[in-house]
Formats: sequence, C-alpha cells, structure tokens
Amino acid sequence: MAKKAARPRIGAKGAAAWYWKRYTELYPKYFWADDTKLADIVVASAKGSLLYDVEGREYIDLTSQWATNNLGNVHPEVLEATKDALERYGFLILFMNPHLPMIDLGEKLLEIRPSKNLTRVFLELSGTGAAEGAVKHAIEASGRPLILSFMGQYHGLSIGATAFGSLAARMRRNWEAFSGGAVHAPYPMTYRKPEAMTDEAFGEWCLGFIEDQILRHVAYPDRIGGVIFEPVALEAGVWIPPRNFVRGLRKLADAHGWFFIADEVEAGLGRTGKMWGIEHFGVAPDLMSIGKALGGGLMPLGAVLGDERAMGTHDVIAGTTFGGHPAACVAATVSIDVMRRDRIPERAARLGSKALKRVKEWEDLPIVGDTRGLGLAIGVEIVSDKASKARDNETARAVFFECVRHGVIPLYDYEMNVLRIQPPLTIEGPLLEKALDVMETALRKQGPA
Ligand code: PMP
Repeated sequence: MAKKAARPRIGAKGAAAWYWKRYTELYPKYFWADDTKLADIVVASAKGSLLYDVEGREYIDLTSQWATNNLGNVHPEVLEATKDALERYGFLILFMNPHLPMIDLGEKLLEIRPSKNLTRVFLELSGTGAAEGAVKHAIEASGRPLILSFMGQYHGLSIGATAFGSLAARMRRNWEAFSGGAVHAPYPMTYRKPEAMTDEAFGEWCLGFIEDQILRHVAYPDRIGGVIFEPVALEAGVWIPPRNFVRGLRKLADAHGWFFIADEVEAGLGRTGKMWGIEHFGVAPDLMSIGKALGGGLMPLGAVLGDERAMGTHDVIAGTTFGGHPAACVAATVSIDVMRRDRIPERAARLGSKALKRVKEWEDLPIVGDTRGLGLAIGVEIVSDKASKARDNETARAVFFECVRHGVIPLYDYEMNVLRIQPPLTIEGPLLEKALDVMETALRKQGPA
C-alpha cells in the first residue's frame, strides 16, 4: 500500500494546499466544489471577525458564519458562561428533565419578543428545526393541511423545509414530490419588478397574486393553516420587501385565520439593525422561528415563539434529543444580555447604513446591477448587462475569489451572482472599511477594460 503523505505542521509552508486537498478527499463534493460555495481555505483558528488558515494567513469574515456569530467568534462572556454550564449540567433532555437554563431562556426570550401575544417558547436544535417546528404548530393547531410560503425563501435543507422553502430549484431537485402540503407564492424581489411599477405597486401585485390566483385557482383559504416568510430575505441575496407587502400579508392572514409566521432565523437578533426583522414593518407575528445567533455563536440552538392558539391548546409532536441543550440555553441567555447591554442592533444599524452608503456608489461600476441592505445585511448583485439585468455568476465568483486572495471572505452561496456583506455585528469599524476596500478593488478589477 502506498505510504500516506505526512500531515504538515500547522503554520508550515504548503499546509494550506495539503489540508484543502485532504478535505476534498474526505468530504462529499457538495461541501467543497467550486460551483457550490466555498473559499478554498481550511481554518485553524478564529476570533472576533477574523479567521486564520493553517498557514497563519488572516481573513476578515464578512459572513459571520451565515449570520451566526453576530457577537463575533468566541465571545469571552458567552464562552465563560457556556463552559460553566457544561460543567454544571452536562446534557439533559428537556422533555424528560426540564432544567433551569431553559426556564431562564424562556423568560429572556419573552423579554425581547416583538409582540406581547407571543407567550410560549418551543426549543429545537437548528434553524431548520425551528422553521419546521413553527410550521408543525401552525398545521396542527389550525387543523388545516396546507402552508403558504414564498418562492426564493430559505427555511433549511431537511426534506420538510425544502418542501415549503423554495430558495433554489436545485435544492428541491429530486424532492419535488414532498411538496404536496406547500403552496408557493411570489415574493417581491423588487430589482426585477416590471419597469412601470413602484416597489409598493409590486408589493401589491404579489399580494394580489395570492388573492386573485392562488386562493381562487390553487388552494381554498380555509385549507391553509399558516403563511411562513422571511421578513427580510437574506439567503436569496438580501431582499427587503416593501412595507405594504408585509402589512398586507398580515391582513390576509387575519382575514383567513392563517398563522402569520416570521422566519427570523437569519434576520433576527440584531442583524437588520433592530432586534427582529419583523419590527421594521410594524406588525406582530403569531409564530416566529429563531436560530443561528441564538446560541451566541458557540452552541447550536433553535427556538420558536408562539401565541396561545399555536402553542397553548394542542399537543404538537415536535422536537429532537439535543434541542434546548442546557449549555446552549445558557449561551443564548447570556448572549441576549450582551446584545442588549452593548446595544448591538443599534450598532448594526449605524455601521450598516455607513457601509451601505459606500456600497451604493458601486452601482456606478459596469458589473454592479443593484445594491441593497438593511443593518449589517448588504447584497451586491453582479450582472453582465444592466439593461437586461442578466445575472453574472462567473464574474461574481471571480470577484469572490479575488477577495479571498486578499484576505476577505464575503458571503457567497446559493444566489450565485450576489456577494453579501454580513459580518459579525461587533466588527470594528476600520476592519469593515478595510474589507470594503478589498471588495471595491476586486469589483473594479473585473470591469471591462
Ligand atoms: N431559516 C432561515 C431564514 C435561514 O436563513 C436558515 C439558514 N440559513 C434556516 C432557516 C436554517 O437554519 P439551519 O441551517 O441552522 O438549520
């Protein structure tokens, strides 16, 4: 048998290539192939908004790990509390042995709820589990079999979440048959609205599509248990729906007795400049899924907040062994305290509006079709032709890798012509500026000569 090449020491020259190659040998193609999403680096350590590869190279993390490390990576106070909780509680299953940390977290979540009608908390392990948990409560409590959801929205990759979420046809490929309970409506992605329409008119048009088309031709309103949507849709490339669309959707839900479900897994916990994305629209959800940053960037945790109708009346069989892990509950409780004490959502709003002002200037570049953002969620859409708005995945990918070569990792995944800027909300101002400098240089380099 051929002798296995020796593993290089961390920090040694050539380590980066060796570890990357090993990664591609050990993990499925989907994890690493160029046409999926990854920068070709293997991380050896991380702190705050910085990542270090196996050769010691430094990278500015504009992803915050898909908006998970909102407090930066390895927040010291969250770390201390989590370590202490692991020592004190180890692991307990909440269904068998309810524990103190879940009581503390339940109360803490109610303190920051966007509306007083949310009175109960369900705990899960992930954002997917939270989105599915919210849908389960809506279907079971309403006794209706269908869920209304939106095209271009992401709720997770489980078979259930891909049935009602439809960010990408590629994700649903081979699983289409499981979508029997989901009805998909258009979401107002305003950049490609019909020329003559304002954003508000397009929002109205999307609502009208539900009323005039879906409810008349596809699904009777009293068969729909709830409507799930992202108040600010991030995975699809940062879309901020017009206010009238969200408010109109709330009215439609009221009119037909649908649970109004906000998926706040990515937009929640300060990302958009308020604690919750839905708070930008002045309406209250009946159910709300939370995840990602909830575990303080250290522990996996998902949660659903629900009203009495959703969670106080019916037995809903949902949950998983590790959901509501005691140490994750402690990490969440402490990170919510830190977020409020340090006014993190306000910081995201301040840093984000300054960054967006600069990013907006990039619209003068020939390859930048649109820029948009709310708080520290900013999208830069790359097109090959501004008139037709044709998506240019190849150029976006080239910009992405150019940034990586210069020590900056933008968020770049399923919407492959959009580069996103979603750093930790604690990122230092000058560090963010430095990252934007690198992105701007990379964008300019890709323009026509
Ligand atoms: N909902 C939304 C809005 C998300 O952005 C995501 C993750 N990107 C999920 C659900 C799924 O969360 P997870 O990957 O933690 O399961």
